[in-house]
Amino acid sequence: MTTFDVAVVGLGAMGSAALFNLASQGHRVVGIEQFEPGHDKGSSHGESRIIRLSYFEHPSYVPLARRALEKWRDLERLSGETILTVTGALEAGYPGASIVSGSLEAARQHDLTHDVLSAADITRRFPGFKVPSDWTGLFQPEGGLLRPELAIRTFVQQAERHGAETRMNTRVLGIEPFGAGIRVRTDTEVIEAGSVIVATGAWIGDFAPELKPHLKITRQVLGWFSPFEPSLFTPDRCPVFLLESEDDACYGFPDFAGTGVKTASHREGLVLPSAGDLAQDGNPEDEAQIRRMLALAMPDANGPLRQMRACMYTRTPDDDFVIDLSPVDPRIVLASPCSGHGFKFASVIGEVLADLALGRASTNDISRFQIRRFGSRSA
Ligand SMILES: Cc1cc2nc3c(=O)[nH]c(=O)nc-3n(C[C@H](O)[C@H](O)[C@H](O)COP(=O)(O)OP(=O)(O)OC[C@H]3O[C@@H](n4cnc5c(N)ncnc54)[C@H](O)[C@@H]3O)c2cc1C
Repeated sequence: MTTFDVAVVGLGAMGSAALFNLASQGHRVVGIEQFEPGHDKGSSHGESRIIRLSYFEHPSYVPLARRALEKWRDLERLSGETILTVTGALEAGYPGASIVSGSLEAARQHDLTHDVLSAADITRRFPGFKVPSDWTGLFQPEGGLLRPELAIRTFVQQAERHGAETRMNTRVLGIEPFGAGIRVRTDTEVIEAGSVIVATGAWIGDFAPELKPHLKITRQVLGWFSPFEPSLFTPDRCPVFLLESEDDACYGFPDFAGTGVKTASHREGLVLPSAGDLAQDGNPEDEAQIRRMLALAMPDANGPLRQMRACMYTRTPDDDFVIDLSPVDPRIVLASPCSGHGFKFASVIGEVLADLALGRASTNDISRFQIRRFGSRSA
């Protein structure tokens, strides 16, 4: 039996960041992952994730996004890796699009640098975008993209450098409170820890059945396309983008890696019975859905398909995260920060989870993410 201050179950985006934060503060910590860091079976693969400060979902996310940006830069300084590329972020949509109005509200409330753009302004400034003439947009210069697989591997490597132990290709089968702590049973051993962080993404329902009725796991398909005009979609000419039409909302990335322009729908995909049901089965219907937005707003990017990949969102009913102590035992910290927009916050959520696991109040405001907002409803 091995004893730790904290055990972290799941080394995806949130777990790897928590492991790093705990190890770098000098705590005895172990991280357990059923696959390898940076794998493609969960919610954190596919080459890129958007980071933006002005937050259409709700202005209260802005302070968290600011802290996340600082913490990504810290990780880059410590590791020497380039995890963040600043391209600016363009949000555009039809009159009344919530992506634009919500982002504008957040920018104004938090005094963030931004430009409001007409359709003609958008094309003048970013010629790869030819949006309908009644659309408007907002550009925020501090937005950009993160490399998720590299970020996760870097968190794990840096945690190990600071003394963290890891168990890869090891599945956690049970988490059981006992008098002095929590026992984590894997397929090979039993680990004891003072507290446990459960950051198992789409698998969180396996360890927190009380959350299951409130979470929906959905299959989201990403497509990479060869642009007809590649020079319009390099990171210096094409920001990361979020586009909202009357019947879809899409996001995407410039061709920063020579793999094409990547884009996907943010609307709810096929609901999966469980996380283990995700398959890499992008099909012509998925491709057609993604192409609709390209045809409408970025016709020069709507070239040959290079590849499709499927990934999972774990959605709450209000699309806000779950970050809280377990109602079963406060020494178990539950983290399900997804709903399709959690990655950018992983760097700061690692800090939050470390505090909660050590019995400290978080210095970041996480009141929006409490489990009790779901009430006792069980369906
Ligand atoms: C297609 C797509 C696009 C997205 N775009 C963006 C974006 O642009 N910007 C943004 O901010 N967010 C975005 N998101 C959301 C973001 O990627 C997620 O919020 C984030 O990656 C979730 O991280 P996680 O740590 O909760 O889950 P994961 O990274 O999936 O980690 C969970 C880990 O737990 C492990 N695990 C599970 N069960 C066990 C077990 N029993 N034993 C051991 N290990 C276990 C899993 O193997 C996995 O590694 C997107 C998500 C998707 C799917």
